[in-house]
Amino acid sequence: MIQRIKGTMDILPSETPLWRYIEGIMREEAEKYGYGEIRTPTFENTELFVRGVGDTTDVVQKEMYTFADRDEDRSISLRPEGTASVARAIIENGKCSDPMPLKYYYIISCFRHEKPQAGRSREFYQFGTEMFGSTSPASDATAIALASSVLRRLGLKNVKLHINSIGCKECRPAYRASLVEHFSSRRDKLCDTCKTRLEKNPLRLLDCKNPDCREGAELAPKTTEHLCPSCERSFNLLKNALDAMKIDYVVDSSIVRGLDYYTGTVFEFIADGIGAQSTVCGGGRYDGLVASLGGPELSGIGFAMGITRLIMAMREAGVDKIETKTPKVYIAAMGEGAMIKGLEIAERLRREGVFAECDVVGRSLKAQMKYANKISAEYTLIIGESELESGKAQLRNMQNGEQSEVELDSFVI
Ligand code: ATP
Ligand code: MG
Repeated sequence: MIQRIKGTMDILPSETPLWRYIEGIMREEAEKYGYGEIRTPTFENTELFVRGVGDTTDVVQKEMYTFADRDEDRSISLRPEGTASVARAIIENGKCSDPMPLKYYYIISCFRHEKPQAGRSREFYQFGTEMFGSTSPASDATAIALASSVLRRLGLKNVKLHINSIGCKECRPAYRASLVEHFSSRRDKLCDTCKTRLEKNPLRLLDCKNPDCREGAELAPKTTEHLCPSCERSFNLLKNALDAMKIDYVVDSSIVRGLDYYTGTVFEFIADGIGAQSTVCGGGRYDGLVASLGGPELSGIGFAMGITRLIMAMREAGVDKIETKTPKVYIAAMGEGAMIKGLEIAERLRREGVFAECDVVGRSLKAQMKYANKISAEYTLIIGESELESGKAQLRNMQNGEQSEVELDSFVI
């Protein structure tokens, strides 16, 4: 048997109603905050992610699905995330001169060659949003409020917001130097990856999961103590805005985010009780991204939520049971003539907007009634020879057993 590729999943009809419910809430909330949906291609020129996500990141170095295009001398990659594509799309579609801010959201699948485990797969699903054209902390607060309202509407109370500021072009170099100094003194204790990070991207040392590196990270100088006056003012304004919007948070200096484009505000929503992959949402400010892709200087703030991890958190909180639609009426038919009549009635009812089903297998009456029960039909209608002749049948309420006679060709329900 051919099996699905490791790290991918089938989402069956028994599960899709929960997915659609979650996605529906995401769309509703995003639109309430003035974001419009954008759809970009599943694959892009590899160069977009190398430049946009950053060539020192794990995502680009180890995780991207990259291949040569069939008929052209070109390298293509499946998108590992959504932000770079959206930034490319606004430049390419001439949106950078529109009135600001630009606000976009998307629900997409992304691809990363990671070690599959609970909450980590190779094709995974994200709800993401991007806002371009504001450097004000008001835009950070709005993005965070949107993420937070989605989580609230999903009923997730066990999720905590962690915020941090990783500084800008002005304050990052000095902070970077103090980090290098701190970690160099304990270089021997670092894992191999962190030894390379020390030269290439020392900020990334702060979110290494290795216990020895973690210990070093906890003792490391904090970004928030090295912010320039402008970054510090922005971070304070953000905190004031979140307080005013009644959004709880903790300042957490270990939040640095894995992708190169982040500057200033970064944040994560972390869920309790779903194991090691507990970040259900990650985001931040990426003021240099649009310019680095060849567009104008245009700042941005966005986030992405992993839908599988949200579902895990919803299960943990017991809020994953949602109502699904069941048939209004199931038409059981005995014999070919009745089956045709059943099809005719079901189709008439559906055109009137009713969820109607009829037997298409040709089973015994007993088996059909068992099936009607299984699919939780609200009413059943049984048609045999005599009903065909009289044009009337008994409509049975499956809940209380009450029956009433109806005209086959005209009854409404
Ligand atoms: P992590 O630290 O968990 O690897 P990340 O920083 O790589 O996350 P982002 O690129 O910011 O993640 O993606 C945003 C969100 O998408 C994450 O917070 C997570 O919920 C989800 N996500 C990321 N990678 C995966 C994956 N491989 N499988 C499932 N969900 C994922
Ligand atoms: Mg990752």
